[in-house]
Amino acid sequence: MSFNSLGLSDALLKAISKKGYTTLSPIQQKAIPPILEGKDVLASAQTGTGKTAGFTLPILQILSQGQHLSRRPIRALILTPTRELAAQILANIKEYSEFLDLRSTVIFGGVNQNPQVTQLRQGVDILVATPGRLIDLQNQGLISLAKVEILVLDEADRMLDMGFLRDIERILKVLPAKRQNLLFSATFSKDIKKLAMGILHNPVHVEATPENTTVDAIIQKVYPVAKEKKTELIIKLITEGNWKQILVFTRTKQGANKLTESMISAGIKAAAIHGNKGQGARTKALAGFKDGSLTALVATDIAARGLDIPLLPHVVNFELPNIPEDYVHRIGRTGRAGASGEAISLFSPDETVFLRDIEKLVGLKLPVENIKGFEPDPNASKEPIKQGQGRQQRDSTPRKPKTDTSNRSSNNSFGPRRPSQNNDRRSNR
Ligand code: AMP
Repeated sequence: MSFNSLGLSDALLKAISKKGYTTLSPIQQKAIPPILEGKDVLASAQTGTGKTAGFTLPILQILSQGQHLSRRPIRALILTPTRELAAQILANIKEYSEFLDLRSTVIFGGVNQNPQVTQLRQGVDILVATPGRLIDLQNQGLISLAKVEILVLDEADRMLDMGFLRDIERILKVLPAKRQNLLFSATFSKDIKKLAMGILHNPVHVEATPENTTVDAIIQKVYPVAKEKKTELIIKLITEGNWKQILVFTRTKQGANKLTESMISAGIKAAAIHGNKGQGARTKALAGFKDGSLTALVATDIAARGLDIPLLPHVVNFELPNIPEDYVHRIGRTGRAGASGEAISLFSPDETVFLRDIEKLVGLKLPVENIKGFEPDPNASKEPIKQGQGRQQRDSTPRKPKTDTSNRSSNNSFGPRRPSQNNDRRSNR
């Protein structure tokens, strides 16, 4: 299906063609027509499916057809969980709206609010925001949402995980009752369904299995390794394999820093990206990783959420995630857009429970390969590492901790959905 068949304006089609898109992704095929008709949409889609264009293009079409008010009140509000995702959505909107008379901006926490306020004062049609900063500016009387016609909740499951439910409820209260609502989520827990039911009116349900997370497209391997030899092994893999672009996941921020330092000492160009890094450092690291000046990006799960990094050849789980669903999100970063990729997990005996949970979730026994000289001691303890030590740390500043991820499930093609018992497992990331 081509973009020409949607009835989009020439200005939008020109921008789409400039991006090099020729055919619609499945989620775009399913979501764009009902959004253009003004319907509420409940979409099951995660990063990598083309979901951003799936809601952005019809919004731009609707807004550009609508009445132009000289004051430019905010007419579309897009809420996202993280700053990176917010910045990426804005970047997409700017590209798609290049030939339209629509203004857009982004607001998120962790940076000075003044430039954001200046932008808002000049008038914007589309606002992308993380909930915390939006509420702050709203409380200061610096923002009006009274003219919002379209609301998007993107990565709604992440927003709930990160404790933004109360903020979302507060934002809903100041929006006009009559509006179009779009909710995108990768997973559908009881809480998400409840949120959706409270917001959406007769929604059209659309679902897309991410093209990038099919078993065929991703080669998954588990390398058993002694815990203390993981750093040495990953450095060996990168240098001997001459890997050029590798995304590495650690469970904690401290772990990300430590590994990055070791890689740099070994001559690998690496940077860490996590919630303790300032926005400038995060943006710089991501840009360096994308343009090839950095070989390795070491990330925690929450920091990596929503990052748009196309065609990643290697993803390495330096530590297995303690939330099995995160494994699926992590490996979904490789083999994107039909290209094959490799997802390698360095697995130490104390992660036995995590591996078992992941295999249960994906419904697969992951292939194990031993690497000579790195095998763990067969008598090493299989006791899990202690969880929940240290403060709960996140990338943003939600008001109310929210840990009920019960019945989280994945919309991937890896296997059965199952309840999660991991409510206490997110910490220190
Ligand atoms: P998203 O799921 O929105 O993060 O998009 C993932 C990637 O797919 C981004 O790099 C988009 O620029 C790209 N993309 C979105 N729609 C299309 C399309 N129809 N054809 C090719 N690439 C696309």
